Amino acid sequence: MGKIDEKLENLTAIGPKYAAKLKALGIETVRDMLYHFPFRYEDLSLVFPIGEAKVGQLVTLVGKIKKIRAGRTHFKKMPLVTALFEDKSGTIKIVWFNQPFIGNNIKEGDELRVSGKLASAKDGVYLANPVYEKASRVPTNAGRIVPVYPETRGITSKWLRWKISDSIQKHLREIEDLIPPAIAKRQQLMNLHEAIRELHFPSNFSNIEKARKRLAFEEMFFIQLIALRAKNTWNQSKAISIPIKEKQIKSFVSQLPFKLTNAQKKAAWEILKDLEKSKPMNRLLEGDVGSGKTVVAAIASLSVLNAGFQTAILTPTEVLARQHFDTFSQILKKFSRRIGLLTASERRTPFAKNTLKNFLGKIRRGELSVIIGTHALLEDKVTFKNLALVIVDEQHRFGVEQRAKLQKTAISLKDGLAGKIPHLLSMTATPIPRTLAIAYFGNLDVSILDEMPRGRKKIETKFAGPQEKKAVWNFIKKELRLGRQAFIIYPLIEKSEKIDARSAIKEKERLEKEIFPEFKIGLLHGRMRPKEKEEVMKRFKERELDILVSTSVIEVGVDVPNATVMVIENAERFGLAQLHQFRGRVGRGKYQSYCFLMSDSDLAVSSRRLKALEKYDDGFKLAEIDLEIRGPGEFIGTRQSGLADTTMSYLGDVKLIQAARLEAQSLIAFDPKETKFPKIWKKVQEKEKKAHFE
Ligand code: ADP
Ligand code: MG
Repeated sequence: MGKIDEKLENLTAIGPKYAAKLKALGIETVRDMLYHFPFRYEDLSLVFPIGEAKVGQLVTLVGKIKKIRAGRTHFKKMPLVTALFEDKSGTIKIVWFNQPFIGNNIKEGDELRVSGKLASAKDGVYLANPVYEKASRVPTNAGRIVPVYPETRGITSKWLRWKISDSIQKHLREIEDLIPPAIAKRQQLMNLHEAIRELHFPSNFSNIEKARKRLAFEEMFFIQLIALRAKNTWNQSKAISIPIKEKQIKSFVSQLPFKLTNAQKKAAWEILKDLEKSKPMNRLLEGDVGSGKTVVAAIASLSVLNAGFQTAILTPTEVLARQHFDTFSQILKKFSRRIGLLTASERRTPFAKNTLKNFLGKIRRGELSVIIGTHALLEDKVTFKNLALVIVDEQHRFGVEQRAKLQKTAISLKDGLAGKIPHLLSMTATPIPRTLAIAYFGNLDVSILDEMPRGRKKIETKFAGPQEKKAVWNFIKKELRLGRQAFIIYPLIEKSEKIDARSAIKEKERLEKEIFPEFKIGLLHGRMRPKEKEEVMKRFKERELDILVSTSVIEVGVDVPNATVMVIENAERFGLAQLHQFRGRVGRGKYQSYCFLMSDSDLAVSSRRLKALEKYDDGFKLAEIDLEIRGPGEFIGTRQSGLADTTMSYLGDVKLIQAARLEAQSLIAFDPKETKFPKIWKKVQEKEKKAHFE
């Protein structure tokens, strides 16, 4: 292990205090620090003689402090440091507001490089609040294109610039470039060291792009290696062939309370055909919120059940697991004794209380045929008798690497089926445009539900600024009095000093007291215990509560057909995909439903995103628009994708993805035994191992 992987707290240049703060940013080693990239840049590269700088310009001046004085403003008595700064061409006044410490850091005679905006006042031109550094230093904070890092408590961009600049000098060469030279050459990739240096301290803006591309290529290359390996393993495996019993399926479909859409029929058929093969299915079912994916999953699991095998259904949250458990118990009523729920906090069958031991026994002996649960299902102690199908719901909530892990886990689930692996069906409500699908699901078959169940009314969507709030509350009261229910979503759980947005806990109290005193309001957020969450959801579903105040935990799959109003406060804080998901929580029953995008700022109304939501209700269309407005990263969300920001911005770059895929393919073909590039394969394995559930 080189110095580069040593913990920062052991380095004298950092010290334990800063090391702890950096840790909060996910930076634990010098390597992490070098990979902590700025999120934007400031162009402070224009250096002027003092005499030539003009008002309004962002300039860098190099000169000497002639005089410096600390004082206070007349008005409000703010700390104020003023200085006279000169070079050969002239003299200028510098003013630092509210930064009294500057008086201690700078003294007369200091030669500095300062960057800032030139402003004018009654008594002449001055430089306001410039950044500064010693003129003798290599330009780091001024006089160049300067990196700006995400701000965190106690760590400024300025501090990071010094430390990163230092680390680059001392440790950059310890980073090893894993991309084989032949590939780098073919793809015209920037050298890795240069790319890292340029990303922190760019020589010009076009180099930033080249550097980003270099890193994005590498990450995409590894993603493709992982995906292709998984695909190869997958293709070499065998699965149980599930015969299609058309009669049974038809009779199940005919007793549903609704008619299947054509899209549902087609998808179900594609899935049944896959299940019939002795090669494992690996299919993605894509469909907008409310397009009816659950019943398609139910048809698949029914077919498996009829053949005498087991299905596991994985969900990202306990709320969703519970809801599927209820739905499945209901629509597969005939078999409800064979449906089970397993999460970290409970194990349940419709009619019995279970200890963990006897529940696991039921799975092992095959008494349970459809087992729904969270990642608790993936734990070692869960052993199936004959698992033939794994369904992953809301799979976009699991990252790229997590998905690879899921496949592997599906492969390794102990099922007593000697060498056979379960079929895999992933479902997602994120309508992913084609270009992204290549990157994400290059190794999947895709079925799409592009048709909404009939009779569903368009959800009326309106932006409501501060003036319209009252009208919205009154509208909600009217709906509630008709017996309907409402969701109100907030971006925060608790009030925060740093973020200016409303919080669920506080607003719930206010709504109860001031706005809706005659109604019952429940609260749901991610910090509640699963039991509490479930209790609240249950009470809302059973109409004991009129309003559910929630945070984004509601995003995933909650189904309450009686709810007709969705209010999203601080709507400007959410992504388009997420807003669309929220909206999908209503309009699930027979009533006309409404969505109000609220904001405390009138400005938000002009937002293209919010306008798009007012206009369109088709998730695929919205996906395209969001892709256009903000690039793919924002749409899927970094957290969800598990990708670095630099890579996210390239997800729409089909060419880059295809190139990475082709290179990955040829590398595997060239080195099938994985002996020629040991370092690459080691990293692939590390990445696979790191994959885990949220
Ligand atoms: P999602 O695709 O978002 O998971 P769900 O499967 O939860 O959607 O279905 C949403 C609602 O639509 C459920 O209440 C379900 O019973 C209902 N539904 C599903 N398919 C149909 C259909 N073909 N006709 C009418 N309602 C349907
Ligand atoms: Mg769903």
